[in-house]
Amino acid sequence: MPQVRVLKERCKSCGLCIEACPKGHLEIGPRFNAQGYAYVRVRRGTECVGCGFCAEMCPDMALRVYREAGRRGKKTG
Ligand code: SF4
Ligand code: SF4
Repeated sequence: MPQVRVLKERCKSCGLCIEACPKGHLEIGPRFNAQGYAYVRVRRGTECVGCGFCAEMCPDMALRVYREAGRRGKKTG
C-alpha cells in the first residue's frame, strides 16, 4: 500500500495538501513543530493511493510519497 510521510519540521500548516488529496488522507494534527505550526498528519481510517498530488502541492516539500510501505519506491516530492 502506498504511504505518505510528513517531514513535520518543514510543514507550515497551509492546508494545500489536504485540499489536494482525493482520499481525505491528511489532516492538521494537534501537535506543533519547532516553528510553532500545527503540522499535517495522516488521518486514521483512510488510505493513500499514491497519486502524489499532496507532495506536488506542498510549497515546502514537507511530504514524501512512496509507492509501497517500507520501501523507497517512486518519490513524487
Ligand atoms: S499521495 Fe494522493 S492519496 Fe496519498 S496522501 Fe497524497 S494526495 Fe492523498
Ligand atoms: S502543503 Fe505542505 S506545508 Fe502545507 S500543510 Fe501540507 S505539508 Fe504542511
